[in-house]
Amino acid sequence: MAQRIKTTISGSLPKPAWLAEPEKLWAPWQLQGEALQQAKADAMRLAVDDQLRAGITVIGDGEQTRQHFVTTFIEHLSGVDFINRKTVRIRNRYDADVPVVVDRVARARPVFVEDAKRLRSLTNQPIKFTLPGPMTMIDTLFDNYYKSREKLAWAFAEILNEEAKELAAAGVDIVQFDEPAFNVFFDEVRDWGVKTLERAAQGLECKTAVHICYGYGIEANIKWKQGLGDEWRQYEHVFPLLAESLINQVSLECQNSRVPMELIALLKGKDVLVGAIDVATQQIETPEAVASVLRRALQYANVEHVQACTNCGLVTLPREVASAKLAALAAGAELLSEELGLR
Ligand SMILES: [Zn+2]
Repeated sequence: MAQRIKTTISGSLPKPAWLAEPEKLWAPWQLQGEALQQAKADAMRLAVDDQLRAGITVIGDGEQTRQHFVTTFIEHLSGVDFINRKTVRIRNRYDADVPVVVDRVARARPVFVEDAKRLRSLTNQPIKFTLPGPMTMIDTLFDNYYKSREKLAWAFAEILNEEAKELAAAGVDIVQFDEPAFNVFFDEVRDWGVKTLERAAQGLECKTAVHICYGYGIEANIKWKQGLGDEWRQYEHVFPLLAESLINQVSLECQNSRVPMELIALLKGKDVLVGAIDVATQQIETPEAVASVLRRALQYANVEHVQACTNCGLVTLPREVASAKLAALAAGAELLSEELGLR
């Protein structure tokens, strides 16, 4: 008898208004110094509490200690100038002020390991910790040193691997790398994208995941999606490569998306984190809508390999909306678990 369907979030949750400006990407912090450190720790406790109360089973930190899922990690590295930023176009979609690579990149000290220890102390349930993937990192900065996307990706992969190993040692059960760039740069994914991802995940003693989505619910992404046609087959390029890789889990976007569900059959043997919560709308999914997406996924993947997840991070949503969506996610997974007689 298979276990009940697990639930998890892809990464971010909204931050309290006393920590950062709500419903905004790259929202500035509202506090400084020691007060900011305490506020981040408090916010992580609330994020964990929200997930536990909703009935989520694999718990994340809600990315409460980072301003952004990519740039915050980069800002902790040497070789990167984060004061004199440059404007770049991210994944060919929208402009952002990003740090500049000015020298060989290196990780002088752990970036999120203290956060991971804190998360570990807050729950006995399995915990997942997110890091940006190498390709998405290089796409979120300006490179004035390596002058080669591939070389820089390999450099980041080594740094990520050091960080990921320390996260695992701190008690993290799953390290997830976020690679939305995998949905855009298919030739690079084939040539070195998956290889650099595997380098980042090499030798880890915990499970590994990769999250590939169609982005946050911001206007630039919504417009991009409108131009992708009736069927989104981007995953078809990437999934066969991931099926051959050492990565254990793949998190993808399904709810309200035009991704043909049969593409998950390409991930044979992997855990599939089925996106059953749309992050681009404030409308709360019903448990039945969540269950319905999962039911469709079960046509192409074994139940032991299916988990219920969000399409992407919830950071840009109001807190009460995010909480209600988490509850719907857990209720939908329960509904289906009951229906299937899972224990
Ligand atoms: Zn995402």
